[in-house]
Amino acid sequence: MFKQPFLDLPPIASAHGTVTLPGSKSISNRVLLLAALCDGATEVHDLLSSDDTHVMLEALKALGCEVTETGVNQVRVVGLNGQLKTKSAALFLGNAGTAMRPLTAALTLMASTQGGSFAVSGVPRMHERPIGDLVDALRVLGGVVTDLGEPGYPPLRLGDGATHALNLAAPIPVRGDVSSQFLTALLLALPLVAEQDVVIEVVGELISKPYIEITLKLLSQFGVQVQRDEWRRFTIPGGSRYRSPGKIHVEADASSASYFVALGALGATSGVTIQGVGLQSIQGDIRFIEAAAMMGADISGGDNHLHVKRGAWPLKAIDLDCNHIPDAAMTLAAMALYADGTTTLRNIASWRVKETDRLTAMATELRKLGATVEEGADYLCVTPPADARAWRTAPIDTYDDHRMAMCFSLAALNPADLPIRINEPHCVAKTYPDYFEDLFSVTTNRPGAVPVICIDGPTASGKGTLSQGVAQALGYAWLDSGALYRLVGVAAEMAGLSTQVSDLADPAHAEKVAAVAANMAVRFDGDRVLLGENDVSERIRTEAAGMGASRVSAIGPVRQALLELQHRFAKAPGLVADGRDMGTVIFPQAPLKVFLTASAQKRAERRYSQLISKGIPAKLDDLLADLQERDARDTNRTHAPLKPAEDAMQLDNTDMGIDESIQLVLNWWQGKQPKT
Ligand code: C5P
Repeated sequence: MFKQPFLDLPPIASAHGTVTLPGSKSISNRVLLLAALCDGATEVHDLLSSDDTHVMLEALKALGCEVTETGVNQVRVVGLNGQLKTKSAALFLGNAGTAMRPLTAALTLMASTQGGSFAVSGVPRMHERPIGDLVDALRVLGGVVTDLGEPGYPPLRLGDGATHALNLAAPIPVRGDVSSQFLTALLLALPLVAEQDVVIEVVGELISKPYIEITLKLLSQFGVQVQRDEWRRFTIPGGSRYRSPGKIHVEADASSASYFVALGALGATSGVTIQGVGLQSIQGDIRFIEAAAMMGADISGGDNHLHVKRGAWPLKAIDLDCNHIPDAAMTLAAMALYADGTTTLRNIASWRVKETDRLTAMATELRKLGATVEEGADYLCVTPPADARAWRTAPIDTYDDHRMAMCFSLAALNPADLPIRINEPHCVAKTYPDYFEDLFSVTTNRPGAVPVICIDGPTASGKGTLSQGVAQALGYAWLDSGALYRLVGVAAEMAGLSTQVSDLADPAHAEKVAAVAANMAVRFDGDRVLLGENDVSERIRTEAAGMGASRVSAIGPVRQALLELQHRFAKAPGLVADGRDMGTVIFPQAPLKVFLTASAQKRAERRYSQLISKGIPAKLDDLLADLQERDARDTNRTHAPLKPAEDAMQLDNTDMGIDESIQLVLNWWQGKQPKT
């Protein structure tokens, strides 16, 4: 997951390949709650691991539920059988509507009938998301709910510690036109107390019906068959009891699929395959594919996968009532940027009460890209930029809304080849923590579109620390090219080949060392460096390995052997490459090159304290002499001698702290970005 304050997406040229989607948030949290309420243990497979499911799991544990991780994305939940184990707890539910609404209903009923008292709260935005209609319904049937903040919004206290009789004889009215989650919450909670038939009556036009279908299908999997009269009346038969299905699989998120369906429609000639959700999904958002097909996507699929490629191009503008696909419809707004006219999305007032006011957020951010947008009370009209020259780029704000971040990543396919900055990219963690990684895995960029920052300089100038700092700030990968040369030296020795200067002078011997370099099975795994199965992280950091690297790196064939390997590190979203010849030889087109220096004395002192702090004995004078010898060899060799690239920015950090150097390089980098 990218945790940086922003992520710059390089322009995307095309898409192809396969993604496996994470489990659906809506299904995951419903299943977790049902597993916690029912009788018996449930093994939940393919669970989404995200902020919202984490919040639900923590809440269930706080309620005394036994939750055990039994595998990757797999938990075993031992149900409470509708009986409170803990009579009071304070539950923090983040910004998870799918935890807040159903837990409020279930805990109110249990606390009121069994004598408990629970506080539920969330992040500030959660305290602005309405829950009054649900609270009203719960109060009508005799549930005790106290407002702890503004009436109609969380935080709330559920129950008051005393036991109360519920009145379930009369139909329970609930509004259905603000959020379908209120009805879902009642449907999930009422089977706990359904001694007799319990009837729920929907007031107003029910929105987001497909989510109610998911609820009903899952209730049935847990043993409760709700009778439905149209979308107005729902009856929970008296004597209903939750029973564990034993094992249950969570479908992948159909809303998450929408971004890759769009990606296929926008940029895939051979196609993008989406695993985890198929044409027959139980999720309403699967109907997004009908809308995407109307716009021109070429979609096929099976039970558990979809395959999407470009059909009509440019896409066709549409005018659509999106009430049945509220979440995925946001993706249509992003696709509208590539349509042949104005796209109108109607009946989407529910966008206003989601993670943010999505109507305003969408309109504001689309305009930043050059689109013309009309924002209505419950509709959005999007007219794309007239042509490539009319596209703009600007940092896209995401309003702590995962869908804003994922939708706007699609702007990286813009015909102007502009990079797109996504602010606070980590908000995708709500439903899809690895979204950007998955996006990069199925997209390609034009040659040179992936940004590379080169940081070259002599040994011990602090390149590694500076490069890692810059890479971390930008979410880029880091190439420690020195480590590759160190590895060559170590690998040659492991293969029984000498790395002495006199031996390397023999061309036949040099070729053998180059062959070792070309065939190294190197793997960088976080801080660890693996050569085949051997962890050589420590060994390549020794002074001896540094000297060996300096000797083998003077050999032309060795440098040639590592060329392609180094180029392969330049992948989206970007690369910070450190070494001696990053700017001069390996990435001569890089937009930013830094040549880092510090006095030899200072560098020797830094290396000295580094070694001493690791408990490695060292002598300052010896280190200074070694360092000068390496400087001389690196600078005077014929192949790729150490020197600043002509357009390199010089940075002498003799008297500069690391944070200051990182900031300076980041400022230079910012100066290279397209003006907004
Ligand atoms: O940067 P580091 O000290 O790890 O590099 C070890 C040696 O590898 C350097 O002294 C230099 O001789 C060689 N090297 C190189 N070209 C690079 C990186 C390192 O020649 N791009």
